[in-house]
Amino acid sequence: LVRFTGVQKTYDGLSLVVKSLDLDIQRGEFLSLLGPSGSGKTTTLMMLAGFESPTAGEILLDGAPITRTPPHKRNFGMVFQNYALFPHLTVAQNVAYPLTVRKVPKADIASRVAKALDMVQLGGKGDRLPAQLSGGQQQRVALARALVFEPQLVLMDEPLGALDKQLREHMQIELKELHRQLGVTFVYVTHDQGEALTMSDRVAVFNDGLIQQIDPVEKLYETPVNRFVAGFVGDST
Ligand code: ATP
Repeated sequence: LVRFTGVQKTYDGLSLVVKSLDLDIQRGEFLSLLGPSGSGKTTTLMMLAGFESPTAGEILLDGAPITRTPPHKRNFGMVFQNYALFPHLTVAQNVAYPLTVRKVPKADIASRVAKALDMVQLGGKGDRLPAQLSGGQQQRVALARALVFEPQLVLMDEPLGALDKQLREHMQIELKELHRQLGVTFVYVTHDQGEALTMSDRVAVFNDGLIQQIDPVEKLYETPVNRFVAGFVGDST
């Protein structure tokens, strides 16, 4: 679906935050970008979203340079840690927003919003304002908003970071189940080993601007390629 080849990124012209990135994102997979703070995960996601451009290298979307498709036409859903719901809009209006922007006919919007809210178990809460919901519920609204327009790819950056441990673990299971049901490609940034290993099909382990290893979860455990991966992945147990 997406291919990064030799991608590099510097913000200040001096130090490379992403040093050399080769990465294939496969259609339908749940891929986590895992690594310590400052290792370049968010920068990688931002380049994919189109909010940052690579300093060198190439990113292909379905075989064509990704820059040919402007960010708003990439059909990517996004969920970030500070989920930025519109506080003055109801839950249903928040979820409807991407459909309104895409000029989906009004008659279709209500049914699609209801379906998306059901999917995240918030059916019946459409008339509330975000402030009247718990943190976990707000995060689910953000997820419904990212899924409602049937994106080809969902980008998530520490989406559960603000939640308490219990809720986070609950949401991990829900996210994994949603991924299974929808078959949409998920790219998920986290520094939490347990989270990445619980949910993902594959994990890309980042350190110091480089992917150290990208493999299915079992393989990371069984055959880490170096000490860093062994230590970092091993920390989750
Ligand atoms: P974290 O989990 O803390 O977000 P990360 O692995 O996602 O870490 P990045 O956010 O990609 O890492 O940051 C990598 C490096 O790039 C950091 O040293 C950071 O300070 C720097 N950086 C990130 N964004 C910018 C920016 N907009 N301008 C300048 N430097 C930046």
